[in-house]
Amino acid sequence: DGRLRAVRDRVRSFPDFPQPGVLFRDISPLLKDPVAFRTLIDLLEDHVRASFPKIDFVVGLDSRGFLIGTPLAQRLGIGFVPVRKKGKLPGATESISYSLEYGRLEIQSDAVEAGQKVLIVDDLLATGGTMRAACELLKRLKAEVLGCLVIIELKALKGSEKLNSIPFYSLLQYD
Ligand code: 5GP
Repeated sequence: DGRLRAVRDRVRSFPDFPQPGVLFRDISPLLKDPVAFRTLIDLLEDHVRASFPKIDFVVGLDSRGFLIGTPLAQRLGIGFVPVRKKGKLPGATESISYSLEYGRLEIQSDAVEAGQKVLIVDDLLATGGTMRAACELLKRLKAEVLGCLVIIELKALKGSEKLNSIPFYSLLQYD
């Protein structure tokens, strides 16, 4: 698919960032190119419309999940809900600690109602810890997590196995 290639061509790799041994996948060139960025959202929209006929909200993860989740929600004609790092959201929040490295994630307690259907979006799935924690947060609010969606999946880390039975989709896969 030429569209997929156009997106893949705009992901850069940086060795040893943010620490030695990590090969960081950088989506900045994708965001910077308006045609490729539109193509990215086209592809995600196509997948979501085909797989999930009825969603109430797109939930995006701090912070690159916001860059993908907000245009996608607009395309789908539905609302967007942010999940943030700790201490950023006012009012009552639900929070979960999920790794020594990243700390805590939070969602506003009134962000979704029990039974509402959500799709969780981020730029990249590595170990799956962030996505799993977000799923747990949404479950605490009694939302129904219909699926998890990322641009990039780092296959070797087997992060999708952490999501158990929740449908997971990645546009691009790297070893
Ligand atoms: P995980 O919790 O799956 O190990 O890590 C995923 C989270 O870390 C995502 O929120 C993602 O934005 C960030 N992340 C980890 N590695 C990378 C990377 O190589 N590139 C980008 N863009 N984000 C990364």
